[in-house]
Amino acid sequence: MKSYQALSEVQADLSSGIITCTDLVQQYLLRIEEKKHLNAFLEVFTQSAMQKAKEVDEKLKNGTAGILAGMVIGLKDNICYKNHKVSASSKILVGFESLYSATVVERLLAQDAIIIGRCNCDEFAMGSSNETSAFGNVLNPLDTSRVPGGSSGGAAAAVAADLCLASLGTDTGGSIRQPASFCGVVGLKPTYGRVSRHGAIAYASSFDQIGPLTKNVYDSALLLQVMAGKDEYDSTVSSRPVPQFSQSLTPPSGKLRIAYLSDCVDANGLNPEIKDYIYSVIDKLKKEGHTVEPVAFPYLDYLVPTYYVLTTAEASSNLARYDGIGFGYRSPNATDLESTYKKSRTEGFGTEVKRRIMLGTFVLSAGYYDAYYSKGQRVRRFLQNKTNDIFKNYDFIILPATPGTAFKFGQHSADPIAMYLEDIFTVQANITGIPAISLPMGSHSNGMPFGVQVFAPHFAEDRLFAFSQYLMERK
Ligand code: GLN
Repeated sequence: MKSYQALSEVQADLSSGIITCTDLVQQYLLRIEEKKHLNAFLEVFTQSAMQKAKEVDEKLKNGTAGILAGMVIGLKDNICYKNHKVSASSKILVGFESLYSATVVERLLAQDAIIIGRCNCDEFAMGSSNETSAFGNVLNPLDTSRVPGGSSGGAAAAVAADLCLASLGTDTGGSIRQPASFCGVVGLKPTYGRVSRHGAIAYASSFDQIGPLTKNVYDSALLLQVMAGKDEYDSTVSSRPVPQFSQSLTPPSGKLRIAYLSDCVDANGLNPEIKDYIYSVIDKLKKEGHTVEPVAFPYLDYLVPTYYVLTTAEASSNLARYDGIGFGYRSPNATDLESTYKKSRTEGFGTEVKRRIMLGTFVLSAGYYDAYYSKGQRVRRFLQNKTNDIFKNYDFIILPATPGTAFKFGQHSADPIAMYLEDIFTVQANITGIPAISLPMGSHSNGMPFGVQVFAPHFAEDRLFAFSQYLMERK
């Protein structure tokens, strides 16, 4: 099948009659089958996708199709789609079917996107390599001995391998941007409060955001503009008007002020080729007359610990609902109520999820609450203030998305801390709530891609997209 790089290419073929949506879905289904070994999809929604394709073909004929007509999308397996299974890649949700659709799903369907299936991910979105999924590893399509990143590993791999044109992931600490960097696609984490979380299976509610993985900046902007905005089912969504992001990708006028965090770019653990590449981007921007300056942010060491104290606390509370009674798995070995709870959770959750529930329960426990949870909240506020201070003087912050390229399977499995440090450059955006994007700009001599990351102030996605487009044109 043709490798579509943008929705505009699909729509051009649809309007010239070269293909129909029905053909397109059939072709994607075939390709998913051919690439089954990647394990990117846990399930394809053949019936509903074909049904929707037929409907959209009809609408295209009579001129009533929505702006996403022809966009075939994969959903990370923690986003609900009514009457379809969803499991957060966990055994504990085996057999569970969504009773309603996430707000983002409703909005995509209303604009005639076609949802083709659910993508493998780390269990409950906890991980950086997709290795914590209860349903096996996802292979990186660019080198199958390497991980695709996580937790939205299947969603990123699916786009990179042409199994769908775009996908939705969730990003609590980097789960859209890190796999985007590892698989060579565009990954956006919107501002916290830009997109409704209604229907996304919660990991850490004050960090989680849903966002798109796409092949280009325009499609990312288009998807965000469809998904974003006020929602009566999620009171944390801002009622600010949603700009037509895809219409404002013209290069930023005038000279920009861009900060780069020297503590990140000069960090010891950063792969030297990635470091050199970031410096080459900085040089190009300077040559074009923009101000690009190093800014000290000597708090790198606090980011990952703060993230793990606070997100595990929230996770321990969010995951309390999986008790063997209300959802999914119930242990056949249980004999009474207490053993139903204990055995269902023991057998249903994987090791990483259990580790985080225990850590979260510990930091919230009476004796340690002040020492860990309260302190974590204070550090979060401090980091937010320090990040906002940078935006008083600069339009954007530029930094690597990941310390290295996609690593080999098993490389970090024995050492959770080494795995957690994979998030060192991404968690700042979740701790502070700002929007961040990973752009597939770099290619390493080992043959793998890597992302350049850009942070923007809260709710400045319009400028973030315009600048991203500008950068992509200079890669
Ligand atoms: N890799 C990070 C973690 O393990 C981020 C996960 C996420 O963003 N959902 O928590």
